[in-house]
Amino acid sequence: MQPLAEPALTVVKNGTVKIFPQRWVNLYNHWLENVRDWCISRQLWWGHRIPVYYCDHCHDPEKPEAKTGMIVSETEPKRCPKCGSTKLRQDDDVLDTWFSSWLWPFGTLGWPEKTEDLERFYPTQTLVTGWDIIYLWVARMIMAGLEFTGSVPFSSVVFHPMVRDEKGRKMSKSLGNSPDPVELADKYGADAMRLGIQLITPREQDVLFSEKSLDVGRKFCNKLWNASRLIYMNHKDGSNELPTERSIYDEWILSEFNELLENINRYYETFELNAIARALYDFVWHVFCDWFLEFDKLTASHSARYLLKQIIIMLHPYIPHITEEIYQKFSFGKKSIMCETWPQKVALKQETDHVSLLKALIEQVRNVRGLFNISAKDKLHAWLITPQKFQKFLESDTHIKVLKKLTGFDEITFNTEPEIKVASVILPNVQCYIELTGIDIQKEKTRLTREIASLTKRIDEIKYRLNNPQYVTKASEMVKKREAERLENFLKKKESISKAVEKL
Ligand SMILES: [Zn+2]
Repeated sequence: MQPLAEPALTVVKNGTVKIFPQRWVNLYNHWLENVRDWCISRQLWWGHRIPVYYCDHCHDPEKPEAKTGMIVSETEPKRCPKCGSTKLRQDDDVLDTWFSSWLWPFGTLGWPEKTEDLERFYPTQTLVTGWDIIYLWVARMIMAGLEFTGSVPFSSVVFHPMVRDEKGRKMSKSLGNSPDPVELADKYGADAMRLGIQLITPREQDVLFSEKSLDVGRKFCNKLWNASRLIYMNHKDGSNELPTERSIYDEWILSEFNELLENINRYYETFELNAIARALYDFVWHVFCDWFLEFDKLTASHSARYLLKQIIIMLHPYIPHITEEIYQKFSFGKKSIMCETWPQKVALKQETDHVSLLKALIEQVRNVRGLFNISAKDKLHAWLITPQKFQKFLESDTHIKVLKKLTGFDEITFNTEPEIKVASVILPNVQCYIELTGIDIQKEKTRLTREIASLTKRIDEIKYRLNNPQYVTKASEMVKKREAERLENFLKKKESISKAVEKL
């Protein structure tokens, strides 16, 4: 095996074949560096029978090493070349399964004939498989490819994790712990099953399968379907193209979309399929639906249909059925979503920091409402201390409507300190005080004191790191700069919160 193993080691070392995740390279190398001869016969009665014939007259089964009367032949020989006897019998053993399988990448394409299929499909690009056959099959396909065709059979190998049950046991017939995928698809939907499993499949470890994850997939598909219907109703005459006229809310979601696309493109380079599923899930649910569609209802944005189209194209490999259905329902253009091209980044026209800040403010106000159990119906008076620029932004009809609607504020006073007891929200560049009629002041004091303690702890940690000579020499300039910025933010926040506590 040694002469076959050497070239197979080389092609992985020099990157002709790339293995993902990279840690499996070690196992691959370990196998091939310690390669042992391979017994290719099996005592089974299915498979390719070994093409070896024995002469009853001159072969001595007691001394097989003598090889006398042993004939290797592609076609059945009529008589013994040594003694001329016609009493020949073929070996009863068959070739090991992997002995046939290692020829698979080219054997299936008509090799050794130089067929059109072989020309077109060999070598191929990516092999996706389980890590348990890294030596049995993957390494052997590479060896056979190099030996018989002179080139590697594929340029990338992706090892996916193994699916185990919730207790970590291998799925097996005897344990009866393997679910029937057809039943699961009936129960949750095929798309929900695909996405649900991808969401719980980390790149490095095995998957502990649980049906709950399929329900996560099912809920996501529902969410996407409902969001699509909403967009369909609200933008019946809208365009599917990228609009030239765009609100700041359009610009904000497009910048979020750009970031998503960049991440996903990067994950595809290294086959991080789980990271892609998660990024898409989070974007669609927590950015597009939770925020953009809310903004869209209040501000008549222009890019909803365009974005929906990009989203379903990106989701299509994960949830093919529902995305095709949405694509058809919207008449998005081509015969099928499969004919679409991959999305491109959008060139942005304006800064969207104000929308990000507005969004952060709304989130924090909602947290305060939650903490004090203030009903969403209760209208509140709020005081905002903020730089002129952001005040000016908020005071426009559209943005004040968004702020009021999504926080439940009915009156907003700018840049004046309140004279009553309030709850506070502290963000960089905005301090927001919220009217607290009938609220437990002690509780609010406790919350803020706890936050000050947690900030103090984080500040101390960063200070400790930045004062540690070993860290200072090892960390990159970029990391150190980021840490210094974090420190400054925490200090600012701590000061603001301390002021807020004084107000209670
Ligand atoms: Zn013979």
